[in-house]
Amino acid sequence: MIGEGGCLCGAVRYRFDAEPFGAGYCHCSMCRKSSGAPVIAAASVPRDRLVLTRGQEALRRYRSSPEVTRVFCATCGGQLFFDVSDEPDSIDIWLGSLDDPDAVPPTFHIYAADQVAWLDLHDDLPRYAQGRKGQEPLPSKSSS
Ligand SMILES: [Zn+2]
Ligand SMILES: [Zn+2]
Repeated sequence: MIGEGGCLCGAVRYRFDAEPFGAGYCHCSMCRKSSGAPVIAAASVPRDRLVLTRGQEALRRYRSSPEVTRVFCATCGGQLFFDVSDEPDSIDIWLGSLDDPDAVPPTFHIYAADQVAWLDLHDDLPRYAQGRKGQEPLPSKSSS
């Protein structure tokens, strides 16, 4: 697919031509603090298929942990990318920054153990207590 997106003020715009993979929600406290939202959603695309079409100079980077750098717009604060150092071939895009977020539905939840108590979600997607790598999802609500 061809995807396009950008920040709230429009200073930064990007485009990719690849099928996003690994689309999921993240409930971790760092994503929460970084966005001001109770949960965020992101998906990966191959790094070499993503191009910035505007606003390179407006991008700011914040290294929130040794492995993770968050990339956002200096003017409006809009979160755009999530760069994981041990995944050099891909970059994560915050689905809320897409012009058409409906095109990339999340398929799982990570850091579900940290979910805000008042957030009431009713999807049947697999939920991982923390990260997904090498982990089994939590038992689903419907089967318990
Ligand atoms: Zn902006
Ligand atoms: Zn997170």
